[in-house]
Amino acid sequence: MCKVVHAAKLAENAKHFARIIGLFNMKYLGLILLFGLFQSCQSQNQKTMKSNQYPIEKTEEEWKKTLSDEEFRVLRNKGTERPFTSEFETFWDSGTYVCKGCGAELFHSDTKFDAGCGWPSFYQGINKSAIKEILDTTHGMIRTEVVCAQCGGHLGHVFNDGYDQPTGLRYCINGVSLGFKKK
Ligand SMILES: [Zn+2]
Repeated sequence: MCKVVHAAKLAENAKHFARIIGLFNMKYLGLILLFGLFQSCQSQNQKTMKSNQYPIEKTEEEWKKTLSDEEFRVLRNKGTERPFTSEFETFWDSGTYVCKGCGAELFHSDTKFDAGCGWPSFYQGINKSAIKEILDTTHGMIRTEVVCAQCGGHLGHVFNDGYDQPTGLRYCINGVSLGFKKK
């Protein structure tokens, strides 16, 4: 009688043991899968970074050599300058606004207007290919980001509330992303 109970207990223990091993294996397999997924995501990211999306591509270190900390934060890390702080917000000279990152011409002073929003505002780009528009769903909003088509530098956003303007658009641009060439 005792032997039978003992055998039954042994069998139960063996089952239990097998179940633990099974679980362990499943967990282990899960970890391997996760690690593999992580690796493939990483190599995907690296591919994206090296994909030559823009004619001018530089590494972070190279950009840091030519940009100030604030310019780097806005242009390369899609930051936003504090409103009403840009020298260009209340600047009305005639000329061309260029990308602070690469010098590409972006806006004409003729299209600049006083939107009162705290950032330099324009109703259109200097030409159709100078600025690239990208859907931006960050910060719980759906917006259209505008970047320099040459270097991908973040400029700001475009909104369709330029009501009294010829295009009805307001390109709301960080002044720190811009340089200015007098006419
Ligand atoms: Zn640029």
